[in-house]
Amino acid sequence: MDRVYLSPPHMSGREPELVQDAFASNWIAPLGPHVDAFEREFAARVGVRHAAALSSGTAALHLALLLIGVGAGDEVLCSSLTFSASANAITYCGARPVFIDCDAASWNMDPDLLETELERCAATGTLPKAVLAVDLYGQCADYTRIAPICERFGVPLIEDAAEALGATCAGRPAGSFGRAAAFSFNGNKIITTSGGGMLVSGDEALIARGRFLATQARDAAAHYQHSTIGYNYRMSNVLAAIGRGQLTVLEERIAARRANFEAYTGALADLPGIAFMPEAPYGRCTRWLTCLTIDPEAFGASREDVRLALEAENIESRPVWKPMHLQPVFASCRVVGGAVSQRIFQHGLCLPSGSNLDAADRARTIAIVRRCCRAVRR
Ligand SMILES: *Cc1c(COP(=O)(O)O)cnc(C)c1O
Repeated sequence: MDRVYLSPPHMSGREPELVQDAFASNWIAPLGPHVDAFEREFAARVGVRHAAALSSGTAALHLALLLIGVGAGDEVLCSSLTFSASANAITYCGARPVFIDCDAASWNMDPDLLETELERCAATGTLPKAVLAVDLYGQCADYTRIAPICERFGVPLIEDAAEALGATCAGRPAGSFGRAAAFSFNGNKIITTSGGGMLVSGDEALIARGRFLATQARDAAAHYQHSTIGYNYRMSNVLAAIGRGQLTVLEERIAARRANFEAYTGALADLPGIAFMPEAPYGRCTRWLTCLTIDPEAFGASREDVRLALEAENIESRPVWKPMHLQPVFASCRVVGGAVSQRIFQHGLCLPSGSNLDAADRARTIAIVRRCCRAVRR
């Protein structure tokens, strides 16, 4: 049996023609017409005026933080339940992450904990430089609450929307909240350029400055003059061509991922001890990954039992992200709460969720999960 992957790339078929055009025009460079067009088309799709195509989502996060002035010694409040790139970007700026736990209703930053922490910081004159909220597994954080809270304390909000292209909160697209947002086109994301990212913002000057920093911060002079430290973060025109092809099928990709979720819930929700990541009432989740928790007492097998049973059949599943406050590298960082994400990590599993997931492979995955439950209750 071929391996079933968690979230493999899924081309539309239009990409080769667009890439061929990049070759024909010889724009094999970290700039060019496909980069410009991808930025325009992407900005229109996420309802934000300006966008800069970059080499990765991590680069987009790094620049977003730099552009709002995060620097050495600053603190940035950050979702604890996330991929390490969110927190790493904070440390690239010389700043320190302070982790905020998630709530059980959205698996995203708990607005109550954020509010309490900002109140505490305000009272002691130690407000953070920024809040970095992550939109996990295709679901927006609750910006109906997080955005006004940040505004009240005058702390800029950055959105890590790397996993949530196409999601909405209160009818608005992921990436349209906060001063700036970051997207990723890594190979496992809902659309991919093999590797890449996008920085978006309603602030034209911010995006212009982002492009400047991303192209080695060259001053306006022929002789390569630099007044500030720059980065080599721009996206290749070849990869932007892939991204344009991918963007045309985003809606179909969301529909396919949501259909995976419906199939999994329909076939597994009756099992004792199984709970799927909830869809928060304030928006639409793309179900980038289908995630569930397994209570080993009720289910009769642990998350790890299930993962290994799938692996034995050459099916890839993954534990939910290990929270940042439990990572050895961030052991010295402060955390607000922590028990909720710790429990989700302990019992959480991500099932194969590709938009090109074969129905027979999905049925096989379901049968193995069901067998794990019966086996132990027998
Ligand atoms: C994938 C991801 C990133 C990083 O994106 P890259 O393009 O791989 O650098 C950042 N944050 C989250 C939450 C992610 O899932």
